[in-house]
Amino acid sequence: MEVNFGGIIPVSTIDWYGKAAMVVFFRKCPLRCPFCQNYKLLDEDNLVDIKEIESKIEKAKDFVNAVVFSGGEPTMQFEQIKSLADFAKRCKLFVGIETNGCYPERLRELIEKNLVDKVFLDVKAPLSDPDLYSKVIGADGAKTVSLVRKSLDICKDRLEVRTTVFKGLIFEKEHIKAIAEEIPDVTYVIQQGIPEQGPNEELKQYRVPSRDELVEFARIARQFLSHVIIRTKESGEEVIT
Ligand code: SF4
Repeated sequence: MEVNFGGIIPVSTIDWYGKAAMVVFFRKCPLRCPFCQNYKLLDEDNLVDIKEIESKIEKAKDFVNAVVFSGGEPTMQFEQIKSLADFAKRCKLFVGIETNGCYPERLRELIEKNLVDKVFLDVKAPLSDPDLYSKVIGADGAKTVSLVRKSLDICKDRLEVRTTVFKGLIFEKEHIKAIAEEIPDVTYVIQQGIPEQGPNEELKQYRVPSRDELVEFARIARQFLSHVIIRTKESGEEVIT
């Protein structure tokens, strides 16, 4: 079997809090977020034999305790992710998936087969606002919102929800309040968006949100959720009480 493979970070401590994880990137995604920092993985192919990736996981297992599958959208390559998650499990590694939530039934199957321990799910905008969601994902917001809602429900016992804030796109207190009201009471991470890393020129005119602005958003989210974290370039991860 071949994997449309985007690359590897051999050891990351920021993708899964408290774990040292190898991150495996898959190519392709059904969405086109204007800020996508991995946009170069979305169009071109790079097919590699799955055994090559298994071998990288096997070599990493002495240095990491988890594998995170990311992308692109890793669940698009469903047979491949099932097979690699099973391989990682046999190597006694925890398995996490970073997903946009567009394939809830695939997430359900991975959970039912005990192939995923943690799902990091992007809620990119208020689910109650499909028009804004369309703008943020560059695709059909109404359809995506309904899929993301299903994914949230299916994964709620092993979920971390993430929102990345960008000035000029998702940067209103009401946006964060609406998201915090809609999601289950799981860890919620508000991430600092860096427009320079994405393909959209218009967004690049806006400055990077400050740590203080993220703290303010987190305090709003804390009114509805027990565990809220901000992630910034300058200060890393901080739990906001
Ligand atoms: S869902 Fe993720 S990988 Fe897909 S376009 Fe958006 S940011 Fe990029």
